[in-house]
Amino acid sequence: MSQPSYVSKLREILGGDHVFTDEETLVCYSFDATRYRARPDVVVKPTDTEQVARVIKLAYEESIPVTPRGAGTGLSGGSIPARGGIVISAELMNHKPQIHKEDLYVIVEPGVVTEDLQKHLEAKGLFYPIDPASQAACTIGGNVAECASGPRGLKYGTTRNYVLGLEVVDPNGKVIRVGARTVKSVAGYDIARLLVGSEGTLGFITSVTLKVLPLPPARRLLAATFDDVTKAAEAASAIIENRLLPSVIEIMDRMTIEASQSYIGKRIDGVVLLLIEFDGSEAVCDEEASKCMGLLKEDFGGAVDDRVDPDRATLLWEARRSALPALTRVANGVVLEDVTVPRSRLAAMIEKIQVISRNYGIRVAVFGHAGDGNLHPTLLFERKNRDDLKRLEGAIAEMMRACLDLGGTISGEHGIGLDKMPFLKLELSKAGYEIMMNLKRSLDPRNIMNPGKMFYE
Ligand SMILES: Cc1cc2nc3c(=O)[nH]c(=O)nc-3n(C[C@H](O)[C@H](O)[C@H](O)COP(=O)(O)OP(=O)(O)OC[C@H]3O[C@@H](n4cnc5c(N)ncnc54)[C@H](O)[C@@H]3O)c2cc1C
Repeated sequence: MSQPSYVSKLREILGGDHVFTDEETLVCYSFDATRYRARPDVVVKPTDTEQVARVIKLAYEESIPVTPRGAGTGLSGGSIPARGGIVISAELMNHKPQIHKEDLYVIVEPGVVTEDLQKHLEAKGLFYPIDPASQAACTIGGNVAECASGPRGLKYGTTRNYVLGLEVVDPNGKVIRVGARTVKSVAGYDIARLLVGSEGTLGFITSVTLKVLPLPPARRLLAATFDDVTKAAEAASAIIENRLLPSVIEIMDRMTIEASQSYIGKRIDGVVLLLIEFDGSEAVCDEEASKCMGLLKEDFGGAVDDRVDPDRATLLWEARRSALPALTRVANGVVLEDVTVPRSRLAAMIEKIQVISRNYGIRVAVFGHAGDGNLHPTLLFERKNRDDLKRLEGAIAEMMRACLDLGGTISGEHGIGLDKMPFLKLELSKAGYEIMMNLKRSLDPRNIMNPGKMFYE
């Protein structure tokens, strides 16, 4: 296939070794963790901000679509090059983070893997709480662009709560710095906050300044098993209602546990599981864990293990983190949803999911961050079965409406991308949708940054 005419200009900017047009590379950058696929025309791997700026300036001048990419673990199709053009991969922008221990912040390049950042920080007694289950692969740039979170979101919030400042190449190729290194700053509009969760549609993030915390001295894990997933969800809501503040409440239903056991090849026991973790001083962990255990046993009939030894804790977390890959082995088609409801409505959401599953004849496994009200109902189907596909689309649409009816949101952490585009208007008012589109048009007048995502053009 002939190469686009601009490839020689990209080679001048980046050197031939960092510009790829071969078939294998293009295929590798045409998918993420969703069912969507689209081929880029070229993949580039810049090593610094200046190179990114020159690539985007060229793209602006010649109106070439640009798709930023981290590790491609996204679950909404955000890094799929829907309109072809250039994929800019951040993978070589991964130098050692600059840790400022005295001021509790760190400056990180976008291609640094989340777990690597955590290890650097922990070696200095510091803590970055954002812990997506994909943390061994996903990048800080991808986390900021999706406003990722994870099990600890319950106590520690999402990426948004840690971004102090950003360096970004805007859609015209200009380098802009927004936010600050201080814990407070109200100098003008909060553009950094606008860029967090913008899914690569408003610019390419080249550097991130993150707030960090002291590493908590102790952690205590409770593993509570229940006979019924709705009961477990009610128990999770009651923990919050009783003003206990674990760092984590994760839920796994029977289908998820069975899939995870078979995936990791070890038994974890329990029909439905809540993993509840407290952190802080030993005394606080002891007190809160003991109150929580009383509540789970007495009010909800849960069987609670409060002496989870380190080996079992590792096993339980392995099972939880492998939930999605494990379920992809159960059926050849898997769609993972990201519905999030106020925490008191968890059980109601699970009941609605069960009804939808029955009505549409689609199996749905449920797991997720119960402490945040963020469930990942995972729909299992046969990819080649047309009837399954039709029922799948109906079930997804009904699930979106159900979570909105309960006062929730269609995506807690995975973003809109390609996947949730049909539903964004359902959640936003017409005026809210238009404000977002107007912002996009004014910041990216030629619509080159991640076009074909989030909004219908
Ligand atoms: C098994 C599994 C478990 C997961 N668990 C969680 C979880 O617990 N919590 C959670 O929040 N997510 C989770 N995810 C989803 C995913 O890992 C996150 O969305 C993550 O933040 C994506 O990071 P990435 O580096 O892979 O980004 P990519 O997938 O490459 O990109 C994601 C989006 O960010 C944009 N982007 C990437 N880099 C940049 C940049 N430098 N500048 C501008 N835009 C950029 C892309 O254009 C795209 O829109 C999971 C995914 C998998 C496969």
